[in-house]
Amino acid sequence: MNNKAKILIIEDELEIRKFLLMTLRANDYNPIEAKNGREAISQIIGNNPDLIILDLGLPDKDGQEIIIELREWCKIPIIVLSARDSEQEKVKALENGADDYLTKPFSAAELMARIKVALRNSAKQNSNVSHLYKFNGLEIDFAARLVKLEGKEIKLTPIEYKLLTTLAHNAGKVITHTQLMNAVWGKRANDDNSYLRIHTQHLREKLNDDPMNPKFIITIPSVGYKIAY
Ligand code: CA
Repeated sequence: MNNKAKILIIEDELEIRKFLLMTLRANDYNPIEAKNGREAISQIIGNNPDLIILDLGLPDKDGQEIIIELREWCKIPIIVLSARDSEQEKVKALENGADDYLTKPFSAAELMARIKVALRNSAKQNSNVSHLYKFNGLEIDFAARLVKLEGKEIKLTPIEYKLLTTLAHNAGKVITHTQLMNAVWGKRANDDNSYLRIHTQHLREKLNDDPMNPKFIITIPSVGYKIAY
C-alpha cells in the first residue's frame, strides 16, 4: 500500500514543474501534475490529492478562480506559488481560501517546510481533536477558555482571547488582517487596521512575546499574522 502523500502540482512552466516533481519525489511524496486549469480539475476529481501546489498564472484560468471554485466543495490544502510579488495577490489568495503562499523564486527547503505544516494542519482538522494548542510554553485550552504561559494562567480580554484563538485554530497558517478583524469584530469590522494592531500589541505584551524576535505571533508585513506551530 502506498502511504505517501499525493501532491498535485498545478503549474504551466515546464522547468518549474520538473523541479517540483523531482523535489517532491526526493522528499518521499507522490507528486502528480497538471499544466492548466482544465487538467487541474480533472486531476483533483480523478485522483483526490492530499495537497495542491497552485501557480496563480495559468494559461486558461486565473489561479484565484480555481481557489474559489475548489473551496465551494473541498478543503484540500492549497499552497499558492506566486510569481507576482504583489501583496494584493497573496492577500486575495488567502482570503479566497488558500492555506499558504510562496513567492517565486523559492527554495526547496522552504517549500518542504510549508507542505509539512499544511498537511499536519489538515490532518488535525480531519481528526477534529484540536482542543488544545501547546507551543513553547504557551497552552490554550479551547474548551475551558484557559490560557497558560509556563504553567501560569494569564488573563486576556475577550478581544485578545478571540485574536489568539483565531490564530491558534489556524496555527502555522497566515491569517490576513481582514480575516482576523472579521473573526474578532464580525462583518462590521472596517478597513482600519489600527485597532487590530493595538490589541495584538497588548496580547504580545501579556505573552511576553517580542515582535522583533517572536516566539508566538509572527507579523507578515502588509498581509497579516500567524502563530508559530
Ligand atoms: Ca505560470
